[in-house]
Amino acid sequence: MSATAAPPVTAPKVALRGVRKSFGDVEVLRGVDLDVAPGEVTVVLGPSGSGKSTLLRTINHLEKVDGGSVSVDGVLVGYRRSGNKLYELREREILRQRTRIGFVFQNFHLFPHLTVLENITEAPVSALRRPRPAAEEAARRLLARVGLADRAEAYPRQLSGGQQQRVAIARALALEPGLLLFDEPTSALDPELVGEVLDVIRDLAAAGTTMIVVTHEIGFAREVADTVVFMDEGRIVERGTPAEVLDRPAHERTRAFLSKVL
Ligand code: ADP
Ligand code: MG
Repeated sequence: MSATAAPPVTAPKVALRGVRKSFGDVEVLRGVDLDVAPGEVTVVLGPSGSGKSTLLRTINHLEKVDGGSVSVDGVLVGYRRSGNKLYELREREILRQRTRIGFVFQNFHLFPHLTVLENITEAPVSALRRPRPAAEEAARRLLARVGLADRAEAYPRQLSGGQQQRVAIARALALEPGLLLFDEPTSALDPELVGEVLDVIRDLAAAGTTMIVVTHEIGFAREVADTVVFMDEGRIVERGTPAEVLDRPAHERTRAFLSKVL
């Protein structure tokens, strides 16, 4: 007799529970619950000011939450457990925890005074203490992966926005993060440059990278997302497959938003 295999239980890569965050009197996150499974691509949609960037920033230690919890790989963001006590991490420990998460910003945030290659090797060398030759070899592989093998010695200002964003993605990947966060990665680009950046993100998705992507690119969401989340006024209003959220939204606010961006 063969035993029936138990269904696989996968711990979420990212788990937010009742996350609250205020700036002054304004409550920007009002109790957000979100699970992202390993290998899953979650696209976050929502109007400007709904809290999307703040949500990503709580995951990457850029904002401290006022309530609830954020964990990545089962570890509470910003805390260390010792016995049954929790200790807040110090700056240096936060930096180390953060190296497991890649963050790609709307405006690229490359170091203007460093070459493309130096931008990519900076964190592996200084934060992870990788030997420079190994870091450079890895950086060149990453540049090839984002289609920029020939631009290693260029400075950011010599590149188009689309190229700069691809360098920013290569830089995020250089830390071999288990999780990538994208905050409107194509919003600052001229329309003709959007595709080349989305292509890179699409390849990462195909390779099984766990990602949370804030974007208004609905076509991309439909094609690449496993899960689409719609945020409004600091809450997740709706969550489901692309077909559920984009084609059969249950909430009026989702419908109103989609009618504007589609
Ligand atoms: P989204 O990314 O969806 O546009 P954000 O998370 O950037 O939304 O912002 C949500 C709200 O929080 C906005 O009203 C914004 O003005 C406010 N906010 C964001 N960051 C700060 C901050 N550092 N200080 C004060 N208010 C902030
Ligand atoms: Mg934002």
